[in-house]
Parts: sequence; structure tokens; C-alpha cells
Amino acid sequence: MTKDINTLLTSLGVNMADYQGQDIPSVSPINGQTMATLRADNAAEVTAKIDRAHAAYLQWRKVPAPRRGELIRLFGEELRTHKAELGQLVTLEAGKILQEGLGEVQEMIDICDFAVGLSRQLYGLTIASERPGHRMMEQWHPVGVVGVISAFNFPVAVWAWNAALAFVCGDSVTWKPSEKTPLTAVATHALFMKAVARFNLTGNDAPAGLAELIIGARETGAQMVEDKRVALVSATGSTRMGRQVAEVCAKRLTRTILELGGNNAMIVAPSADLEMAVRAITFSAVGTAGQRCTTLRRLFVHDSIYDTLVPRLKKIYAGLPIGNPLEKTTLIGPLVDQAAFDGMQKALEAAKTDQGQVFGGERVTVAGAEGGYYVRPSIVEMPSQTEHMHHEVFAPIMYIVRYTDLQHAIAMNNEVPQGLSSSIFTTDMREAELFMSDVGSDCGIANVNIGPSGAEIGGAFGGEKDTGGGRESGSDSWKAYMRRSTNTVNYSHSLPLAQGISFDI
Ligand code: NAD
Repeated sequence: MTKDINTLLTSLGVNMADYQGQDIPSVSPINGQTMATLRADNAAEVTAKIDRAHAAYLQWRKVPAPRRGELIRLFGEELRTHKAELGQLVTLEAGKILQEGLGEVQEMIDICDFAVGLSRQLYGLTIASERPGHRMMEQWHPVGVVGVISAFNFPVAVWAWNAALAFVCGDSVTWKPSEKTPLTAVATHALFMKAVARFNLTGNDAPAGLAELIIGARETGAQMVEDKRVALVSATGSTRMGRQVAEVCAKRLTRTILELGGNNAMIVAPSADLEMAVRAITFSAVGTAGQRCTTLRRLFVHDSIYDTLVPRLKKIYAGLPIGNPLEKTTLIGPLVDQAAFDGMQKALEAAKTDQGQVFGGERVTVAGAEGGYYVRPSIVEMPSQTEHMHHEVFAPIMYIVRYTDLQHAIAMNNEVPQGLSSSIFTTDMREAELFMSDVGSDCGIANVNIGPSGAEIGGAFGGEKDTGGGRESGSDSWKAYMRRSTNTVNYSHSLPLAQGISFDI
């Protein structure tokens, strides 16, 4: 049963009177209708929010990490309680199908669980000292205010990946969400504040300003990035945005985690299990209507299986259920807006000039949602990998190229400027190992017998080259949210110097 937008926001604890204004419309990709218009924070308000976040960090860093973990445990509970409503809001504002909206909230819950455990595992090393009577160790301390910038396509999970870790690490967080998805951010903030209230009721003191939400467009994000008190900028979005952010951060020598565009490929080798490959290709290429950073965009198929696999894919593409993402049977929802549709059409025209054979890609009218930009996902058979294929087009276009030599397929995988995700379908162990080896895929993610999209939170997530080099989420990504201090303690009665230096005075 779907709820209307105001009922949803109220049930998520949002008081829209605090946000209503004239600056930032929240337009549903489902039908192109404006659901609400929000007020953007002005420059003085942005400064005041960063002031508060900085003051909060100075207090929060003193709270023992496992207590900080308790706040995230409570936040995870709020997310569990409100999963259905928040998931539906994600669908309304970002346009992804309901299962994926719910999946996004599940990802937030998963990272909360991970962060709670992590709050008791922020380990440093003890290191053998070359000097007698000395102990050398490292400690990890909070880094300060973490400024998070997020993109429209994962409007809430990306914040959670960053924030859950940052909070247990002892940092405060300022968040500038995408101007296309402000309502999901407002709702997530409200749920977090509920968790803070419960935390404080049990004898704790989470300082005001621990989580600040900054509403606005690019300029507002740019102001946050320039502020010297923001010690780490974690920015997710296009490579264009990442370059601008990186330049500002490099100038003021601050840290960044950049999670930027992808141009992900899959190789389907002669020994591949084609039943599995077909499912993986379809989900990774058309899921979220091709609007995931890890969407499959380039498929390299071995010549010996090309004429079996590609017609099967076309048949599936022809029958894909495209429609209102709130409906259970829909698998393909709308593009985010007209600009995304225009970008897709332009890319298909360009592919034709490169002798590409285009299948699908046309606009689809959905009854009752005529204002939405729905498209049939497109397959483009290419004679070779051309320059146009080097660019990320944020829409469901999958280019297919034949290959005969695996080394050439790996070279094509690596030829593009981006380096986020990649995969190979093969049952040949040598091929799989080669693909994952030093001379294999150059991406941050290299999978075998699964598609390039749909990562779990337990692994470090991110990519190389134009994807920005950042890592978020699992493994030891938490280290980016802390500063390392190396401590050498002399418990002897003499002062031997390192490197055997003699310095007698
Ligand atoms: P976008 O770059 O247009 O916007 C992303 C965010 O950056 C928004 O909040 C925007 O306001 C802000 N922004 C833009 N310019 C800025 C500047 N100069 N200073 C500070 N903030 C600025 O991206 P989008 O269209 O929302 O999202 C799609 C892109 O995001 C795709 O390229 C996709 O691959 C990428 N993405 C990457 C990942 C990843 O983890 N690698 C995840 C999701 C999306």
C-alpha cells in the first residue's frame, strides 16, 4: 500500500514547515510533478552549521567509541522501523523501483551494523622498536568535521556509508545532498535526530550539531568544501564535480574521498555459464534504469558465443517491464529527468556515427505518468570500442563488442579513463585469476561470475583513475575518517637515538 508524500514525511518525523521555501524543488521522476519546494541555506547559515558541527566534534571525540557505536545501533533500529516509508520515499524522489528503494535502506541498516561492531575495533598496531626499552605503537584519533556530498542516484545510502563510520570514529558530519533529492535527506536527518533523542534519554550526551544537513545546489556544496574546518570531504557524483572538489581540497591540503563516475565492463568468455551471465548482464545493465555508478555499460563477448548470447539479450530487452516504479511488476523505472533522456539520445546518435547497431532506447509512455522520462534500455552492437564509449552516459545503454583474445578484452576493459567496477564470466580458473591479477582489470572492483553492480557493504567500495581513488564502506575504509598518531615510548634509563646516531653533548 503506497502512501502520499505528506503522510510519508509525517510518519518519518519530518516537519516540512522547517524546510519549505522557493529554491529547491523536489520533482518526482515518476511523473515529473513537484512534490515540495525547499529553502536553500544561505552562506551565513552554511557557516553557522559548520560552526556547530565543529563544536560538536570537539565534544564527541571525548565519548568512548563503543558509546558512539550505541548511537549508531539506535539509528539502525530507527531505519528498521521506518524501512518501508523511507524506501518508498527513495522511489518517489529518485525513481528507482520499490525493491531497490527498500534495498537502499537495507544497505543503510547493514552499514550501521558494521559500524557498531567497528566501534570496538578501531585498532592500532604495536610495532617492534629498534631501540632497547622502547615501545612503538600507533593510535587512531577522530579527524574532525566530515563534509559529505552525495548524488541523486543513491540519495541516502551514500550518506550512511560515510556517516555511520564517521560517527563511530568520533567525527561530526555535515551533509550536502543532491539538489534533486532533498526530501529523502530531510527524512534521513529526522530519523537520525530521533536516534539522538533516544541516545540522550539514556544518560548520554550527543552534542547538538553532530549531524548537520545543508540544503542547496552546487554553490552551497562548494562553500562547504572551501571551509577550512571541514577536515575530510567525501564527495560522490560526476567526475566533473570531483575535479572541482579535488582542486579546492588540494589547495587547502585537506583530505578527500572521491567516489565518481564509472564505465563498467563485463567479459563473457567461451566457458561462461550463460544462464547466470544473462541474469547478471540484465540486472547490472538495466537495474535502476542504468543510473548506478556500477551499471554495466560495456560488454565484451567472445566470438564463439556472441551469436547465442546477444539475440537472447535482445529478446529479454524487448519484454522488460517498464513502468511506474511503485508497481510490483515493474523492473525498469524512469530516468531522473529530461536532461538524462536527452543525454541518452545524443549518445545513441553518436554511436550510430561509429557504425553502432542500436536496439531499443526509445521513449516509452506510461499511462498516468506521462510527465516521466521512461525509456526502453538499449543495446548497441559496436564493431570496436570507439572514443564515444570512453564517456559515462548515465542511462541504460549497453555497448557490445566481440573479442577473440582475452588479453585484448582486458585491454579494452582498462582502456577507458574510469576505473570503478568490472567482471568476467568464465569457468576457466586461469582466466578468472588472470582477470583479478596485477595484469588484469585495473578497477577498484573486479568480480568473477557476478555482474559489476550490487556491492556488499563488507568490502571497500570505490575505484581508480577518473573514478577518484576513494574507498568507502567496509574493510579498513574507516581509517580515512581518522588521523593516525605514531607514538614511541621510552621506558628505559637511557636515550639511544634511532639509526644508531651518536649525539653526545
Ligand atoms: P553531480 O556531480 O551532478 O552532483 C553530485 C553532487 O555534487 C550534488 O550534491 C551536487 O550539488 C554536488 N556538486 C556539484 N558540483 C559541485 C561543486 N563544484 N562543489 C561541491 N559540490 C558540487 O552528480 P549526479 O548527477 O547527482 O550523480 C550521478 C553521478 O554520480 C554519476 O557520474 C555517477 O557515476 C556518480 N556516482 C558515483 C558513485 C560512486 O560511488 N563512485 C556513486 C553514485 C553516483
